[in-house]
Amino acid sequence: VYSVSPIKAFSDNYIWSITQDNHPQCFIVDPGDAKPVLTYLSETNRVLSGILLTHHHNDHVGGAAVLTQHFPDIPIWGPENASPHITHVIKDNSHVELEPFNIHFTVMAVPGHTLDHIIYYDTRSLFCGDTLFSAGCGRAFEGTYAQLHESLCNISALDDSLLVYCGHEYTEKNLLFALTVEANNNNIQRTLEKIRSLRQNNQPSLPSTLQTEKKINPFLRCHEENITLAAATHAGKPLTTANEVFEVLRQWKDKF
Ligand SMILES: [Zn+2]
Repeated sequence: VYSVSPIKAFSDNYIWSITQDNHPQCFIVDPGDAKPVLTYLSETNRVLSGILLTHHHNDHVGGAAVLTQHFPDIPIWGPENASPHITHVIKDNSHVELEPFNIHFTVMAVPGHTLDHIIYYDTRSLFCGDTLFSAGCGRAFEGTYAQLHESLCNISALDDSLLVYCGHEYTEKNLLFALTVEANNNNIQRTLEKIRSLRQNNQPSLPSTLQTEKKINPFLRCHEENITLAAATHAGKPLTTANEVFEVLRQWKDKF
């Protein structure tokens, strides 16, 4: 059984570290900055054994150059062209084996935030970069709203028990938006109380679970009546498809 812990970077990024008891190795996901990773490695007496990248944005890949100078032969998995340091180009349905850990990730392409965005998951964890956030989702920078919505629906179809490791600490602000969409959702109210107390103690709000996200995340529930009505009221016109609801919600959140 492996452990996952956050390494904070920039103002609100999380670089995720994957470790296993009695092993000095560690794998990291989305090192936007090398410095906090190197500090973490020296503080925990670990050696870097590999890097997993989700998409090409610099706050997710920018540390790879310096880390490969310190650890020249490590494998770096990522979508094509996300970083010049990638050794293993992966795509939808690729498999990633973390040796010597007994970890097998499956890759899913989730275009929308960027066109190259991929996620990694196994039976326990989901590393979703900037596509799914707790109570929210990434902006549609490169893809269409329909593309991003389809990607989120595909993530939503994965196992409810998955622990969700996102790329940013955006949960509290996302929950405030979710409450604006759905003021009477008790799950959102309860989660906001819990997350506020974690954040006041400087604890990460993550991981979430996919099961929790299906209750609190409006972007995963665009087919539901409550959300559709709220989006239609905001847009001032009737909305008929979940894709239309998603687009209104995402644009509403952009200005929130
Ligand atoms: Zn991004």
